[in-house]
Amino acid sequence: MNAQRPDLAELDLPELEAALEARGHERFHARQLYRWIYKRAVTDVDRMTDLSRSLRERLASEFTLTTPAVVGDECSIDGTRKFVLQLADSRRIEAVFIPDTPSMTFCISTQVGCAMACGFCLTGKMGLVRNLTPGEIAGQVRVLANATGMLDHPFNIVLMGMGEPLHNYDNTMKALRMLHSEHGLAVSPRRVTLSTVGIVPGLERLAREPLMPNLAISLHATTDEQRTELVPPNRKYPLAAILDACRGFPLKKRSRITFEYVMLDGVNDTPDDARRLAKLVAGIKSKVNLIPLNPAPGIPYDRPSDERVDRFAQILADRHITVSVRKSRGRDIRAACGQLIVEGGTKKSAAQQMALLMR
Ligand code: SAH
Repeated sequence: MNAQRPDLAELDLPELEAALEARGHERFHARQLYRWIYKRAVTDVDRMTDLSRSLRERLASEFTLTTPAVVGDECSIDGTRKFVLQLADSRRIEAVFIPDTPSMTFCISTQVGCAMACGFCLTGKMGLVRNLTPGEIAGQVRVLANATGMLDHPFNIVLMGMGEPLHNYDNTMKALRMLHSEHGLAVSPRRVTLSTVGIVPGLERLAREPLMPNLAISLHATTDEQRTELVPPNRKYPLAAILDACRGFPLKKRSRITFEYVMLDGVNDTPDDARRLAKLVAGIKSKVNLIPLNPAPGIPYDRPSDERVDRFAQILADRHITVSVRKSRGRDIRAACGQLIVEGGTKKSAAQQMALLMR
């Protein structure tokens, strides 16, 4: 984006109003533009037919409007659709449509690659390439909602694609504000779930957000030793600090924190692990979502048997913990959790990854 020609896709509504006013236009056109860009998924100012031709011509010369391009669209036998999107700098990201009646969900990315380097996640193998801009984050929803015919239907958004949302905090939250606008898609924060490895300062900021999404914490282990091995940021933000932040998190009525727990065969799926997990989350308004590993080449772990998963779930349920097992969707097209990766990532060393994280 250059200062002279701002990108309409990167502006929230107040910014767009100000940018229009600064160029001698009426502020109310911002709402019209939002409707076209978000509600109608129009990607070209010239197609905004309730604006006069002369206004369209001026807007086209004063602003750009960047939209991720669909360069891949694969459908799984279970209906899951994985989109590969190309950004203006030719980098690629993935976003997934998960049609589960009654609720439809878009799983979107917040970064190209990821710096967290979780041991079981393919995206983590790429390293971080760069943060997505607010317009690129929100743009995934514009593109997918249009491509799947969902523009006029309610849908959920999960920030569970590539990247760590709290490692790209400002851009992620700005994207959510843009998607929330009543003049655009009007996505309620109740329909958005932010999934994080638990970057504690980010959790503390999130707790003060006026527009607060649902929170999911990728826990995955019950001792710091094991969690640091599986989820390296745990070195800086250990279990106790994360769980403290969760205890202090202001939850809306009827809402709970989700603890995600990827199950790795013979590693973190024993009855002892289940009992420790029950103790850790006791007293936190929460539910546990068990995610049997989606295996992949290069990932040194296996998926546990259904019996092991059921036994683990039963131990939690016996301790009055709400537990669900995530159905894996789109595995045949590599659209499942932790399987999103696009070639071209530059693998960074563990030390570089941590340096990025500490910034
Ligand atoms: N960085 C965020 C969001 C992206 S990952 C986070 O870590 O929460 C979304 C979820 O998919 C996380 O819970 C992550 O641990 C999980 N996941 C990653 N790789 C996986 C795999 N191979 N199989 C199953 N789940 C995986």
